Amino acid sequence: MTESERDFTIKSYIDYLSEKKLMGSKCKNCGATYVPVRKLCTKCYKANMEWMEMSGNGKIAAFTSITVGTPFFVEKGYNRDKPYCFSVIKLDEGPMVSGQLIGVNESKPETINIGMPVRATFIETDIKGETRVDLGFEPK
Ligand SMILES: [Zn+2]
Repeated sequence: MTESERDFTIKSYIDYLSEKKLMGSKCKNCGATYVPVRKLCTKCYKANMEWMEMSGNGKIAAFTSITVGTPFFVEKGYNRDKPYCFSVIKLDEGPMVSGQLIGVNESKPETINIGMPVRATFIETDIKGETRVDLGFEPK
């Protein structure tokens, strides 16, 4: 499938993640960018989008260290003794997107700083024989 043929849906966004591409949509009318994708621009209310690949570079806007995780993370081995971090990242292109923060000391969140530069990474997890790819971020 070529990029122009893909619908601006969360399914397409996830399909791109599984191909290790961080894709957003860009409004052809006003230039606003969205990650994950949107069909309708919330700034100018036009539905005139094009796909845009993000660099994956950004800065930490917010994060939290989680000791009591969702079933998905508990199954991956995270718990009170081994917390994981979840973050909101402001991409260099502008949009804010969330993802797991890896390559940091989750047990010492005071060592992680707002504004710290990060790059996107694609975290693969095998679930019942299928590989799921989630967006994550790691310090540069
Ligand atoms: Zn727009």
